Amino acid sequence: MKDSFKHQGMRNKLAETVAAKGIADKGVLDAIRKIPRHLFMDSSFEDHAYQDKAFPIAAGQTISQPYTVAFQTELLEVKKGDKILEIGTGSGYQTAMLIEKGALVYSIERQKELFKRTNLFLPKLGYKPKKMIFGDGYKGLPEEAPFDGIIVTAGAPFVPKPLLAQLKIGGKLVIPVGDDVQVMTLFTRTSGKSFERKEFGDFRFVPLLEDKN
Ligand code: SAH
Repeated sequence: MKDSFKHQGMRNKLAETVAAKGIADKGVLDAIRKIPRHLFMDSSFEDHAYQDKAFPIAAGQTISQPYTVAFQTELLEVKKGDKILEIGTGSGYQTAMLIEKGALVYSIERQKELFKRTNLFLPKLGYKPKKMIFGDGYKGLPEEAPFDGIIVTAGAPFVPKPLLAQLKIGGKLVIPVGDDVQVMTLFTRTSGKSFERKEFGDFRFVPLLEDKN
């Protein structure tokens, strides 16, 4: 695992690109400058790691586009010490960004291979989530609820009810909703029973899969 001045230079450029697309959150841009994205990808894609694009990772999944990770993190408005649930650990890049923002992160992944790999990899880089869970994110994580924020990094055909139920009052759920194309959707819990819903344009994710067992 190596990082270099060249990588650092490419990261600074990537942060500029993402900022030019409208991301203003300084903590998010600092995280892009800091996190060695090339180490989260297969070495065959290393040369492309600092393009603002999604790339394949193991188990037919993808590492999200940096702009998308930044956009979702900005919507979540993470504050230091916030308890955040992430659905879809994947490569762990989004997890690392949440940790850079000072969040206490609980992250769920349903692909065993990715779960194992990322669970070992993140601590090697100094990123320590509160808990990594192998399981089905549709159910959320009731034993650790309520959360200040929940972020879903796969395309959800519908909004899983347990996720809304596991938000604190004032808490936020950021979730791309749809089948082929997803609308980035932000729910804010305004009371025990009510949620405000806002939509933020189209994105494309790999699907949030429901476990059949
Ligand atoms: N944030 C990750 C995105 C990975 S792609 C990254 O940038 O690397 C989405 C991830 O969601 C995949 O790893 C996929 O296996 C996972 N996923 C899909 N359905 C899920 C479910 N029901 N529960 C948990 N994870 C799920």
